[in-house]
Amino acid sequence: MSPSRDSVTATAPPVLPSKSNSSPSCCTTDIDSQSLTYEEALRTENPSLQVTADHKIKLVSAPRLKPGVGEILLHIKVTGICGSDIHFWKTGAIGSLTVDGDCILGHEAAGIVLEVGEGVSNFSKGDRVAVEPGVPCGTCFLCMKGRYNLCDDVKFSGVYPHHGSLQRFKVHPAKWIHKIPDTMTLSQGALLEPLSVVIHGISRSHLSLGRGVVVCGAGPIGLIALAAARASGAYPIVITDLEPSRLAFAKEFVPCCQTYQVRQDIDAQENAKAIRSLFGNTEYEAPETILECTGVESSVVTAAYIVRKGGDLMVIGVGKSIMNNLPFMHISLAEINLKFINRYADTWPAGICALSGGVLNLDKLVTHTFPLERAIDAMKLCSDSTGSGPRPNFNGGHPGGAMGMPAIGAALWKYAMHGSYDGRYMHYGIREHAMASIANGIAAYNRGSFIPVISSFFMFYLYAAPGVRMGGLQELQIIHIATHDSIGTGEDGPTHQPVELAALYRAMPNLLYIRPCDSEETAGAFIVALKATKNSTIISTSRQNLRQWTESRRHAVKFGACVFRESDNAQVTIIGVGAEMCFAVEAADQLAEAGVVVRIVSFPCQQLFEQQSWDYRRKVLRRGKIPAVVIEAYAANGWERYADASISMTSFGKSLPGKDAYQYFGFDGGMIARKVEN
Ligand SMILES: [Zn+2]
Ligand SMILES: [Zn+2]
Repeated sequence: MSPSRDSVTATAPPVLPSKSNSSPSCCTTDIDSQSLTYEEALRTENPSLQVTADHKIKLVSAPRLKPGVGEILLHIKVTGICGSDIHFWKTGAIGSLTVDGDCILGHEAAGIVLEVGEGVSNFSKGDRVAVEPGVPCGTCFLCMKGRYNLCDDVKFSGVYPHHGSLQRFKVHPAKWIHKIPDTMTLSQGALLEPLSVVIHGISRSHLSLGRGVVVCGAGPIGLIALAAARASGAYPIVITDLEPSRLAFAKEFVPCCQTYQVRQDIDAQENAKAIRSLFGNTEYEAPETILECTGVESSVVTAAYIVRKGGDLMVIGVGKSIMNNLPFMHISLAEINLKFINRYADTWPAGICALSGGVLNLDKLVTHTFPLERAIDAMKLCSDSTGSGPRPNFNGGHPGGAMGMPAIGAALWKYAMHGSYDGRYMHYGIREHAMASIANGIAAYNRGSFIPVISSFFMFYLYAAPGVRMGGLQELQIIHIATHDSIGTGEDGPTHQPVELAALYRAMPNLLYIRPCDSEETAGAFIVALKATKNSTIISTSRQNLRQWTESRRHAVKFGACVFRESDNAQVTIIGVGAEMCFAVEAADQLAEAGVVVRIVSFPCQQLFEQQSWDYRRKVLRRGKIPAVVIEAYAANGWERYADASISMTSFGKSLPGKDAYQYFGFDGGMIARKVEN
């Protein structure tokens, strides 16, 4: 006997255990064995894809269970992979549902009946079926009222501890299995699960012939909602998203729709106004129904402003646990019906009729198909597509990876993915020179298309220097995030404590070396770096936590230096730089107690200061009138132009806790105050 392959398919629909909408999914499909007998099945391996409590996935053989009373043994042929599967893998939890042990994933499934248990009379071997994954208690009042999706005791396949369908053989209660006709494919059978989310959402709101509707979000659930809206006869139909590539896919999928790319530079009301104008200029013409499929706060707020007075705002997406910015009085005064769903109830029969009757065709949403044995590859592909970029191969749409995603997005995404190097990540070792050189290549490619953002400890920008220098020489816009600057880096010791490096980068042409003193100035440094299209920028940050100052101003960073604390009758100017601003302030406070009047200047960037007018520079520094002392735990080279004395480094650092290292080298408010006073 050689069983033909089973498969996992990658469909586009990500649904939380069952209502989310993050991304595309793959599906796995299994061996094509109409003819597999129960006896053969017992001798066949049962590969399964399991998620572990420590965020790993593994393909392991699972036990083959015998169907008990009222149960059916299924040969699972197709399982869609959805956003929630990826979420359980990468984060180990969705809301209160947590992965506390090994669990077989998968909840969008269709297959063939292999064996029926005792008491099952309405199914027989060989029946083609779709699986409804939620198994409620069946006895509580919610179950009795038919609102079984709200039952407190739902055992949902693929949510720990209930095993899902990413395995070859699964036992499931016959009551929650639905026969599908021969005119339907098994992939369509698996699509019934995400379709159910939309059917339930529509049944609780309404769509009517010739009345307008807006679908927010062109993810898998949004696309299904779009197709459903089209099938309902609602018109005009507008779909919104942030991503142009998703909207392009939506337009191809349902050509009669209009698309609207949500703008992030204007607020919800302004976006809503623009979306409303696609329907007409009167309240009457505004859309009666909004199907909100993202669950993102800004999108829900926008939807509240789009919908016609008295209309339905159906939130299908799931979001954070508290949403604080809903325009409550607008919703109240306009009598908007704000509604929600939790999974679905009694939707499979309607879904089967809609798909087999040709009312809807969702086949394009299945983008990739993998054999069950390659379920890990399917999961990786899906997780790779959950970034902000276009979906890879959304059925012939966009090839391969997500071009156009700036490196900063990738970096953030990496953290979101818990340090995983799967997908588009290359593990390339610790190579600062190569990193900076690669960044040069990316920045040089059709200038302005990408702004590479790269990062390392500041000390190791010594190794990056040849690449950074070539970037400056070529006037390339690159943002370097240098961390662990100064001796505050601490116990790593002198090997990790830059002392002399700032002098090199302050002298390097076409490069801005910026040392912000807190997060406000860091924001200012980013603004400068993003606007600097003809040079590179190093934003130099500390390892240790810094105080957030009330005096810092992000918009002053572009001047290079600015007055931090002013006093007309000051006797001395103290210049605070980056992480050492705290010593400037401490010293100033102690000097004030001793009767010395001090003004403070924050000086994040020498190169920017040099670009300012003579007048401005004179006003900030008051050179020639009162003495200035700079406090920075670097070599003092370069500060001669701006200060008469320095509290600075004349040796390598020392391996001590950051605070003690500072103290050891005389960086201490009291010690500095005494020195300045003398
Ligand atoms: Zn799903
Ligand atoms: Zn119940």
